[in-house]
Amino acid sequence: MNSLEGSFEGKVALITGAARGQGRAHAVAFAERGADIVICDRCENSDVVAYPLANEEDLKETVRLVEATGRRCIAVKADTADRDAMDALVARAEAEFGRVDIAVANAGVSVPAPITSMTSAQWNEVISSNLTGVFNTVAAVSGGMAERGYGRIITISSMMGRSGGTQMAAYGASKWGVIGLTKSVSLELANSGVTVNAIAPGNISTPMIHNDMMYAMMRPDLESPTADDVEPVYATLHAQPVGWLDPFEITRVVLFLAADASAHMSGIVVPVDAGVAARSN
Ligand code: NAD
Repeated sequence: MNSLEGSFEGKVALITGAARGQGRAHAVAFAERGADIVICDRCENSDVVAYPLANEEDLKETVRLVEATGRRCIAVKADTADRDAMDALVARAEAEFGRVDIAVANAGVSVPAPITSMTSAQWNEVISSNLTGVFNTVAAVSGGMAERGYGRIITISSMMGRSGGTQMAAYGASKWGVIGLTKSVSLELANSGVTVNAIAPGNISTPMIHNDMMYAMMRPDLESPTADDVEPVYATLHAQPVGWLDPFEITRVVLFLAADASAHMSGIVVPVDAGVAARSN
């Protein structure tokens, strides 16, 4: 285990959208390093998200993986867009585990659509899940963290939170918004022992990019494109010649920002995007 990633013995880490993908990778990694885990996922599809979201079996599998490390896990089916649900989750974590030390606001959706035909339902889904959901998570944990004088909040933005993208008006707006929220809260909590940082991933190998809708967008010339067919097209969105990165590349930075040693890093955005950050300011 890389010592730079820290030990989280005795800590409590909350991760949203952890039924699969990056959220699951973060939850299991914290558990392997000694933390008790609190997770949620909506575990339901959305009418306007054109790929399947996680389900309750996925959430159970994350619980199984966490508990296999010997750590405890609170898992609930909850939508981050629901403020009451997020407050209730944090209240339960504080009652059962004593506190929340680390929060990773990870849940999100991708709904690409041209601005000329984007519906309000599409816009609202993206802003609710990707921006309001991050607000609800941060707002739910920050009071207790500030009171206890310790906290590590990590939000998940995107390379689309630092640039524009075709059909990405809603997604880009939500992810730029996450950065504004992160920097503002970081300043507000600077006197409280709580750090607040964002990560801006490039293409990460999860169901968000590996699905029929995205494959058809990437290779409209093919009837049934495969991962091999879309990989070079995804690579054009990066500077380095790789189509996608493993979720653990994001986990590694989450662990770093959550470590005690990162006490004096706050309000920053860490790109893990195969070189794309070189193109933005
Ligand atoms: P994913 O689709 O595998 O995982 C997202 C999880 O969030 C799913 O389990 C889903 O059910 C859950 N979720 C969605 N909306 C929710 C809500 N409102 N409340 C609770 N749970 C909800 O995708 P991922 O790649 O693991 O995505 C994690 C984060 O990383 C997202 O914020 C995403 O926008 C961001 N991101 C992903 C990529 C990528 O290429 N995969 C790139 C940049 C940023």
